[in-house]
Amino acid sequence: MTSTTPDVFAWLDTRSQARSRAGLTRSLRPRAADAAALDLASNDYLGLTRDPRVTEAAAAAARRWGAGATGSRLVTGSTELHAELEHELAEHCGAEAALVFSSGFLANLGALTALSGPGTLIVTDAHNHASLIDGCRLSRAEAAEAGHRDPAAVARLLAERVKKRALVVTDSVFSVDGDLAPLPELADACRAHGAALIVDDAHGLGVLGEGGQGGVHAAGLAGAADVVVTTTLSKSLGSQGGAVLGSRRVIAHLVDTARGFIFDTGLAPACVGGALAALRVLRAEPELAGRARGVARELAGRLGAAGFAVSSPSAAVVSVRAPSPAEAVEWAGRCRADGVAVGCFRPPSVPDQVSRLRLTARADLAAADLGRAVEVITRNAPAAAR
Ligand code: PMP
Repeated sequence: MTSTTPDVFAWLDTRSQARSRAGLTRSLRPRAADAAALDLASNDYLGLTRDPRVTEAAAAAARRWGAGATGSRLVTGSTELHAELEHELAEHCGAEAALVFSSGFLANLGALTALSGPGTLIVTDAHNHASLIDGCRLSRAEAAEAGHRDPAAVARLLAERVKKRALVVTDSVFSVDGDLAPLPELADACRAHGAALIVDDAHGLGVLGEGGQGGVHAAGLAGAADVVVTTTLSKSLGSQGGAVLGSRRVIAHLVDTARGFIFDTGLAPACVGGALAALRVLRAEPELAGRARGVARELAGRLGAAGFAVSSPSAAVVSVRAPSPAEAVEWAGRCRADGVAVGCFRPPSVPDQVSRLRLTARADLAAADLGRAVEVITRNAPAAAR
């Protein structure tokens, strides 16, 4: 920079200092490949990301099709693996059709922008994931927030709307506390008022439903023509990527109009092959889903008995309240140093401004793992956490 070049980013320092004072600075910590720490921080709910059946399938897909997809899905980026994954995912979840995107974030942007617009009212839950919030913004639809898990408020907003079309958009399992959306009641409100329901099942696929068919299936709404499901391949399916599931009519519309699908390079073959192998493991071992839920309940029960303010888990996410953002970070750091990796959520990632440790149960955790986790979390807790 010469003396005549103005420092156009000087304001970033002011912002950075403010975040630092509020305990909200973030940092990237590369993890060791052979992590010795017990992992309660990842979203690998079924423990499949390192399963040899999954990693071998990912490697074989890369060898056969290349390290990248080579182009957008509509040009050179669709392989027969993409088609197989879409077919089997739709079949597993009870949907007519599925479309794979290169991330769950893009699947949400794609679905919301393609299925709404300035003539639509989108009714949202206050705890919706950032990608749903951004999808609403990008769609230029009118958005109205209906509090958290409040189908009566949703119905009111739908009844009072001026816009002709309407969408109700919600997570199935909310990512911070792991609580569930009231999907049957939301579907009733939608049907009473001529609205479509879009459900982000990122944390439900592989965990909810008897065989991990997801939250929408568990709510009895699989295959409904007025319900669209979005999900990720990066949590229970141990890979990377996203998908939208719905009627053939909806999926054909997305292929023609979803910009995050059309103008994006297709999902890499290794990710497709890995997700497909993980899905096949889940379908062959449907008990994995119940096991992940059982581990979450056990973990929450033990932490509650130790005196912490713990969420009551319906899926695989368990959260523990921390006294402040700074203490949450320090608590998580001490646990990590003590051999247990835990997540830490602070503003702006928490809708209610309450910082938390975020723990994820995994189907492959043993009772001894849980004992160790509770011991380490308790030993390293700040005094005000109990
Ligand atoms: N929706 C929810 C509820 C999520 O938690 C996430 C990921 N954290 C996403 C969407 C985005 O999925 P992906 O990571 O595949 O982009």
